[in-house]
Parts: sequence; structure tokens; C-alpha cells
Amino acid sequence: MNQAENHDEGCGGTEDSASSTDCANRVLILGGGFGGIYAAIELERALRARSDVSITLVSRDNYFLFTPMLHEVAASDLEMNTIVNPLRKMLRRVNTFTGNIETINLERRYVAVTHGFDRHVHELSYDHLIIALGSSTNFFGLPGVQDVALTIKTLDDAIELRNRLITHLEEANSECAAGQRQPLLTFVVVGAGFAGVETLGGINDFVREAVCFYPNLTPEFVRTILISSDEFILPELGKKLGAYAQRKLAARGVEIITSTRVTAVSGSMVELSDGRKILATTLIWAAGNAPNPLVAALPIPKSGGRILVNEYLAVNEVPGVWALGDCASILDHKTGGFYPPTAQHAIREARCAARNVAAEIVGGKKKPFGFQASTAREEDASCSRLDAGSVFCKGLRMRDCQTYFHHDGIGRL
Ligand SMILES: Cc1cc2nc3c(=O)[nH]c(=O)nc-3n(C[C@H](O)[C@H](O)[C@H](O)COP(=O)(O)OP(=O)(O)OC[C@H]3O[C@@H](n4cnc5c(N)ncnc54)[C@H](O)[C@@H]3O)c2cc1C
Repeated sequence: MNQAENHDEGCGGTEDSASSTDCANRVLILGGGFGGIYAAIELERALRARSDVSITLVSRDNYFLFTPMLHEVAASDLEMNTIVNPLRKMLRRVNTFTGNIETINLERRYVAVTHGFDRHVHELSYDHLIIALGSSTNFFGLPGVQDVALTIKTLDDAIELRNRLITHLEEANSECAAGQRQPLLTFVVVGAGFAGVETLGGINDFVREAVCFYPNLTPEFVRTILISSDEFILPELGKKLGAYAQRKLAARGVEIITSTRVTAVSGSMVELSDGRKILATTLIWAAGNAPNPLVAALPIPKSGGRILVNEYLAVNEVPGVWALGDCASILDHKTGGFYPPTAQHAIREARCAARNVAAEIVGGKKKPFGFQASTAREEDASCSRLDAGSVFCKGLRMRDCQTYFHHDGIGRL
């Protein structure tokens, strides 16, 4: 299929699709996470006067997910619609294409996307390609882990975890589960970065607060265990803050096992590198990132599986291809290392890449990427459109989200 059929409201053609075909400059953004959405918003702003530019954002879901609060949905602290924002509300000029990206063909400059009940294919051609596809979970090939572990990366993951917690409380309370109560109420989280620690904190509070409502359960049945291969938890915050968080969690009943790895999982038995074995029916894996398979398949330079880009966030020797966020390796000239894969960085990289794409289109000067903490606050304040639509930032009207929100298994637009 050709570009003229590229739209997400049926396959008969729309004004968006027609303009995409005729357009002199076609910008395709892959991914609707922090990187993709901020790149789109910035491109709308930078190219608002250019009617000869078509911009399309392709993503699996039709909403932006605020991952830093995913654990609050998993632990029933927030309703799911408070951490999602519909792409169509956030984007005014950029076309949204909801589908699964199957392949990226850099040689012929198109991206193949499937959608619809029959998963039919569209080929979206581009002049500029912004890759913001994030990362996948790394299970390190450990025996049994991928089969049993839950992850905490998507809205589905958070919903599954929330359902799991409630189901296990109900099961453990039943008369016939008398010998199984502790394994049913033992929750092991592997990985002590932000995602793992926040998730475990949420689970711990939720389950301990809930047990008093179950006549056959007491707090002694509950075990919440955090496993880290590092010496301290939250290595991103440094040793002092990590140790502080560790003390606080321990005071709330969390068992913390550091400098230890999971080596295998068989059935409900979690095996550790120090020889310990933990009987637990819930294992949550927040211990590592692997490259997105689409990125892994690209024949371009990478570092640590992430696309190597220059200071303008462009891929050297592949004109018109840009990468940012968790799927990109960007050298920090000040430290000699690479910028970390965080939302904070993805947002700023997205703005920089978008401005550079716009500069190439309008013939302006490109600027190198640099993260300066002193400018971060001003930049955050300027992004009112994203903030205004999100309860975590300021007053989301929930019915707005419910109207637009679709998610497999919950309801479609
Ligand atoms: C639980 C959790 C908590 C976190 N907490 C924090 C925090 O407190 N602070 C912080 O700075 N960072 C935090 N992070 C990290 C932060 O979420 C990432 O660094 C950030 O999301 C990276 O943005 P991105 O755009 O590169 O990738 P993502 O936000 O992951 O976006 C990738 C996008 O690509 C889409 N996609 C991928 N493959 C396909 C495909 N084949 N077809 C169609 N679409 C596809 C995805 O659906 C998604 O929309 C957290 C992450 C998690 C998981």
C-alpha cells in the first residue's frame, strides 16, 4: 500500500493521507512515549507556518503513558486513566497513526506498519525519520524467568499486576489455601532502580493495608522482597540517598537483598546467586533493558544496543535519520559517558532533535544537544500543553481521557 492510504480512520484515504503523499517534506516519528510526543509537539511549534510539511507520529497505542506513575496504578493508588493522555488531544497538526511498526527500511526510506483486525500493512515513506522507540525488557536469558515474571513497563503490565495482587489476597484468604498463604502473599521485585523500588513500595503499602479486611490473613503472611545486584538500592540517587531509602523501606516491612542476583526460577521457587531460595508466586522483573527489536535489526552504528547519534541527534552517514530517548546513545562531552535513559533526557533530546529537523527543512542552523540543569526548569514550565492535560501535573478532567482512551481489552475508540 502506498502513502496515500496512510491514515488511521479507515483505509479509503483522508485529507491527511493525501497531503502526506504530495508533501515535499514528510517527517515520520516512531514512538508515542516521552521522546516521540515531545518531538511532535516541538515540530508543530517550529513548523507551524509550513503547510508543505507533513508530520506523522506512529505508535502502538493512541495515548501517551506517564511511566513514572505506573506503579501507582499497579498498587491501586491511581485510576489508570489518570496516567494516560490521548495523542489526538495533545497533537493538533501532527497526524496520529496507531499501529504496530513491523520493519524500518532505511535504504528505501519507508516504515511498514500493521493495524486493523486483519493486521494489514501500510508502507509509510519519509524524508526525515525520528526514531523514539524506547527499549524492551532484558531477562538475560535466565532459566524460567521470562515465563513467570511480570514486567512493569506498560499500562497492561500495571493492570495485570494490580489484578494479581487482588487475586492473591482473595486466594490466600480462602479456607483451602491454608498451607499456601505465605507463598501467595510473597512478592519479589528484582531490580532496585526507580521502577523496581517504586513498584515494591506500592505493593508493600497496598497489600499490608488490605490484609486487615481479610479474616484469615494477618500481616505475618505478607513478604515483600527487593533484590538488587548492586550494593545499594537506587544507584541513580547515589549511596547516601539509596541507603536512606533502604532504611525507610525496611522500616515498612520490606526485605532487601543486595549484591545478589536471581539465577533461575522454577515453578514458584526463586533461586539466588548466594544459594538462597525463596518460595514466591509473584516475581516482578525490573532489572534490565534490552534494545527494542526494531532498533536491534537496524544496520546502523550502535553502542550498547542503542543507536549511536551525533551531537545533533542525527545518525551519521544516514541522511534524514534521527534517534533519541531510551533507544539512542548520545555522548555527553562533559563526562565522556552517555546520557542516561530517563524521561528527563528523552524530553530534552526530543526538543533538540525536532528543532534540528525543522532547521534542515527551513534551512536554519542546527544546535548540538546538551542537558543543562539550570535551563531545565524553564523548559518544563514552557511545556504547558502536556502538563495541563495530566492530573499528575495539573487538573486533568477525567472524562476527557475516558472519551478518547482506548486500550486492548478495555474498549476502543
Ligand atoms: C515503571 C517506570 C518508571 C520510571 N520512572 C521514571 C522516573 O521517575 N523518571 C524518569 O526520568 N524516567 C523514568 N522512567 C524511564 C522513562 O519512562 C523512560 O526513560 C522514557 O519513557 C523514555 O522515553 P522514550 O520515548 O525513549 O521511550 P518510551 O517512553 O518507552 O516510548 C517508546 C514508544 O514506542 C512505542 N513502540 C515501541 N515499539 C513499537 C512498535 N513496534 N510499534 C509501535 N510502537 C512502538 C511504544 O508503544 C512507546 O509509545 C521510568 C520507566 C518505567 C518503566
